[in-house]
Amino acid sequence: MTDRPGASPDKGADRALLLTFDDRHVREWAAAAPLFTSYGARVTFFVCEPDRLDRDEVRLLRRLADDGHTIGCHGLRHERATDFVAAHGAGAYLDREVVPALDGLRRHGFPSRSFAYPCSARDEGTDRLLLTLFERLRGGVPADRRADPALAAELHVPACDISSRRVLLGCSVDSGRGTVAYGDDLTGVEAALRRTAEHGGATTLYAHCVADAHEANHVTPARLEKLLAVADGMSLPCVGFDELS
Ligand SMILES: [Zn+2]
Repeated sequence: MTDRPGASPDKGADRALLLTFDDRHVREWAAAAPLFTSYGARVTFFVCEPDRLDRDEVRLLRRLADDGHTIGCHGLRHERATDFVAAHGAGAYLDREVVPALDGLRRHGFPSRSFAYPCSARDEGTDRLLLTLFERLRGGVPADRRADPALAAELHVPACDISSRRVLLGCSVDSGRGTVAYGDDLTGVEAALRRTAEHGGATTLYAHCVADAHEANHVTPARLEKLLAVADGMSLPCVGFDELS
């Protein structure tokens, strides 16, 4: 492991990789915990359907939180925010999809301060609405941009903007879904990490399950380790959303 100049254990790291995982793949996330620990990495798990977590999953999530990882909210039924608001209104979206998810996580002992949009479906209206409940939101850039070196400028948030930037856009690093492979070209992602390591600031990435194969979107442990090694080689600390000032 290299020294990590920005890896202060307290809040307000001046440079950060924000690695995030969505949905409800708690067992697979827990299996990846030793990998995170070996790189001193803390990540964020955005959990949906908290009412469907079984006791074992709650216990595993507790262990991940105790390791310093952030537990965030990803909605009750993984509804697309913009579609739900258009169909049922903003009040119904909060009452039926967001507040019950927050309450469910809180009941399990995970008070969540950040939210990741299912399917990255967001607009300024949903941002305003959700920022009444959360400190930060995570959206996304189209996954096909990840091979584009120009993505670095879009993904990188300068250090001076981290504290004021409430909506962070991430890029998918998933390896595939079911029998579909998404390709290995992460040129844009690596360019964003390099820019962040050199200039400070933050870059946000997201994945789902951690597995060599899975019917859902997943990143392979090998790719995850490679990303952690790249960040570590750049002395870029991997921190959770709750660690941002
Ligand atoms: Zn999701």
